[in-house]
Amino acid sequence: MSAICKQSLKSLQPGMQNVFVIGIIVHNTNMRTIESTRMRFNNGDRGVWSFTLRGSDEDSINVTVWGSTAYVGNLSSTFRIGSIVELINPKVIERSPEDRNESFVPWVSSPCSLTINEGTALIQNHDAPSRADYEPLLAIPIRNLTGLRTLNSIFENLEELCDQYVDVLVIVTFISDVRNVITRDGRNARFRSFEALDDSTEKVVSLTLWENDWIERANVWEPKRTVILLVDARITYNNYRKKIGLSIVRKTFITENPNIPQTEALKNKVQCCEPDVMFGNFATPNPVSISTVMTIQQITTKLNQKPQQDERIQFAAILKAYVMDINVECLDPGMLTIRCAMCKKTVLENQDSCMNLECPAGNGARKPINVMHLNLKVNLKDDTGYLVGCRLSGEVAERVLGCTASEFQAMIIPEREVLKWQYVLERCDVRLHVLGPTSNFTNAIYNILSIQRIGEDEG
Ligand SMILES: [Zn+2]
Repeated sequence: MSAICKQSLKSLQPGMQNVFVIGIIVHNTNMRTIESTRMRFNNGDRGVWSFTLRGSDEDSINVTVWGSTAYVGNLSSTFRIGSIVELINPKVIERSPEDRNESFVPWVSSPCSLTINEGTALIQNHDAPSRADYEPLLAIPIRNLTGLRTLNSIFENLEELCDQYVDVLVIVTFISDVRNVITRDGRNARFRSFEALDDSTEKVVSLTLWENDWIERANVWEPKRTVILLVDARITYNNYRKKIGLSIVRKTFITENPNIPQTEALKNKVQCCEPDVMFGNFATPNPVSISTVMTIQQITTKLNQKPQQDERIQFAAILKAYVMDINVECLDPGMLTIRCAMCKKTVLENQDSCMNLECPAGNGARKPINVMHLNLKVNLKDDTGYLVGCRLSGEVAERVLGCTASEFQAMIIPEREVLKWQYVLERCDVRLHVLGPTSNFTNAIYNILSIQRIGEDEG
């Protein structure tokens, strides 16, 4: 291999022969199949797959692979975002602004594009120490960010911006599970939604990932930790939601935790000072930052508003209410569970760790640390109604009761009851994170973030 001289992406000229380039795959689309009936020469179904290759900070190019479905399928499942590859003898073609395909590929620096045809060109792993030169490129924005927009400026100018592309930096707040749909043309498609925000507004933006590689990479995204840079996200009318919104389209280039100063700044502004209280995939607000005071009736009214399609009602509120009960005398074994300290997932009784393969403790990369976790239910009442079964769990429950889960486990029932009488029948400031029902959870969830007794002379 040492005899072969690699070319830089920027030195490529249309029609060049015997090209040899190295780079890291930074964008990747799903392979598509073109049925043989649509081809001029009927020689079986054909596969096409495209990706974006980056050779240096300022050097990027789009690549398209053509061949039999078996050939293209094999390559597209072998090489993913982050793969460092050698392209041997690709065809160098000049890009043309009139080419319709240009609107389906990301912005790149090169005036050319590359084609790999089965039988005449190769893609292979670049297995050499210089791999380390390419890895950092994954976190560097694909181009200079001169016109980053805030979500607020997008939300306020949706009509004017319709059908335009924008660059935006956001922090993930919620990641859904992977879902399946049948598309209009009868194909099975997978997708995954996520929500994100920036520091310009409290309104979240809801986005959908359609490319398999990104659907999988989102497995390790963490609410309030993962920052996403979208270059050329599109503002477009969404037929499904019946409104204009921001979308990830095939041209959109995604960078995870980009290596720019704005990433840390955004994290610091959005993250609360104390560790997040996590519930599943939801990032919960810092109780100190909540300022909206609501009654139980107001919470109920808000929950009963018909949600926009596919949007989950979610809000935080301060409730001044009486604690009617905390179920400390409950004997359900679910009240004390063992959870993974890292991913917070439940560790089953006969297991040593969470079975979460995305978690370092679950996949064996790190020694598991499991913690005892309290799961209590609280009933609240104010002048307008009742809230039954509010969740009080984990560190919040330990703070509220003033004892650890292990200490709680060791107590007999009368001792546990003493703990609850600190609050029962007292008027309290209860900070809640309310999650509206969804098709999976048909009951609203009331997550308690803090409970404090209100003194005689206070509100
Ligand atoms: Zn875990």
